[in-house]
Amino acid sequence: MLVLLLLHFRISAADLGRNAELVELLRQTGHFSRTIHELQRERGLSSSYLAGGEEGAFADLQAQYAATDFKLRELQAALPERKDPLVTVDVMRRRVAAGDVSQREAFDYYTLQVAAMLERVVQLAQSAGGHAMQPGLIAHAHLVQAKEFLGQSRATLLALPPDGMADRSWSAAMGRHVGLFDWHVEQYLRGAGEDLASTLGGTLSEPDMLRARQILGEALSKAPLASTPAVRKARYEAMTAAIDLLREVERYSLADLQEKAVAAQSAGQLAAMLERAGLLLVSGLLVYLALTSLRQVLSALETALMAARRAARSLGDAAVPAPARQHDEVGEISRGFGDLLELVDRLNRKASTDALTEALNRHGFAEIAVGELLRARRYRRSLSMIVFDLDHFKAINDRHGHAAGDLVLRAVARLVRDNLRLADVFARWGGEEFVILAPETSGEEAERLAEKLRLLFREHRSAGVPGFSASFGIAALAADDDLDSLFARADRALYQAKQAGRDRVVLHQPEKSTATDARRRMTVVADNTRRGTTS
Ligand code: GH3
Ligand code: MG
Ligand code: MG
Repeated sequence: MLVLLLLHFRISAADLGRNAELVELLRQTGHFSRTIHELQRERGLSSSYLAGGEEGAFADLQAQYAATDFKLRELQAALPERKDPLVTVDVMRRRVAAGDVSQREAFDYYTLQVAAMLERVVQLAQSAGGHAMQPGLIAHAHLVQAKEFLGQSRATLLALPPDGMADRSWSAAMGRHVGLFDWHVEQYLRGAGEDLASTLGGTLSEPDMLRARQILGEALSKAPLASTPAVRKARYEAMTAAIDLLREVERYSLADLQEKAVAAQSAGQLAAMLERAGLLLVSGLLVYLALTSLRQVLSALETALMAARRAARSLGDAAVPAPARQHDEVGEISRGFGDLLELVDRLNRKASTDALTEALNRHGFAEIAVGELLRARRYRRSLSMIVFDLDHFKAINDRHGHAAGDLVLRAVARLVRDNLRLADVFARWGGEEFVILAPETSGEEAERLAEKLRLLFREHRSAGVPGFSASFGIAALAADDDLDSLFARADRALYQAKQAGRDRVVLHQPEKSTATDARRRMTVVADNTRRGTTS
């Protein structure tokens, strides 16, 4: 619904700009209309002066020059970029004053200037293309043109030869001007709003206008017209009165358009304001929706956390955190996340720890060992791996039972843990086989450690735990070792220890040697007496 509301008020910045543009178009049109009117008057007066040279005619003309200049300067100020050939008007005026220009030539000169301005008025109307007020502007252009053709009719009347005998071209010009006047009046009545059309309609039936029409009718009758100076003056004045009436309509029409344009502009601004308000409303709604869905997410998260706790409890983890007592959502969620992290940590540890011995399992060992191996290789530190396997463990199980076997495994793990450094990594590799990764430890140092463990195992006595021993294989890190190859070499040494009779430690030393050499140089660190012999 809001979207519809927005669409309804969707008057874009472009439309707003168009309204402002229209106000400017009308302002310019007004300037042209006024200037055209003065030029038309000047044309009329100069024609009249050139035709009859009546008493006072030149003074009237000179007074008009000032009026025309005033409007020309206004136009120039309103359109500073405009460089019209209007400066040439002075040249024409001087020629009129000197009497070295024909009435016809002067008329054509002014008519050309007026035509150029009329063209601009039409262009302005056309440039409002698509705007709701364009028909009004175009109608206005018709009105300005109607007035121009009435003006041209007046000039043509003045151009009637003193004998009153109209020639063919005079009649043709008269017919053309009157025809065009009628056509533009018709176009205006059709295109202007009802109000303005009826204003013109009323004006057309005013006495001055009817008188002008009567004069034009006579001129078109092709009958000879009286052409005394007095009659010509009377005709001129009657036509001028009609033109002035049209000028009034034109002024009214323009003012009406300007009023409407300004109103449209304000309406546009209002619509833009409403649009902004609408946008604000929509953003508010979006924020509300976001908050609402956030609450849904929080609630889903809470549910998920409860499920995670239940799952953890079902794993038999006694230390599962209890749900927070407070029911504030955010507090609950943040506590929940803390619990969840703890839970993840515990599950991680669980996943990498052997349940029976609490040593790392293979997975946990690999995770840590890879990093240790990389570090030792990068910094060229020593690192050793000890792999050991309980001797005849199957027999222990068989003789004392599986539970006793388990106790042995636990005892082994405890003994090893108690004798390792923090940095050492200890894991149950599987069954009764274990592995120790000893950083910063050479093969020889690892040998000593293994030997110590071997003795501890042998000498271990505890109620309900059968005696046991183990065989140890050791490999020290070589430059090209990875975890697998290091383990494989330690395991090979372990195999050697088993082969050699168990309960002993074997160090594998492969560096710079062939496989045969390696086997030969394998050191068997001897049995329980610690007086080892080299095999
Ligand atoms: P060797 O000296 O050659 O290593 O002989 P061994 O008997 O120790 O070797 P073998 O691999 O034949 O036997 C290993 C035994 O370890 C078999 C298996 O039942 C036992 N075992 C593996 N895991 C466990 C466990 O978790 N608890 C107990 N009690 N026994 C286990
Ligand atoms: Mg074994
Ligand atoms: Mg084994």
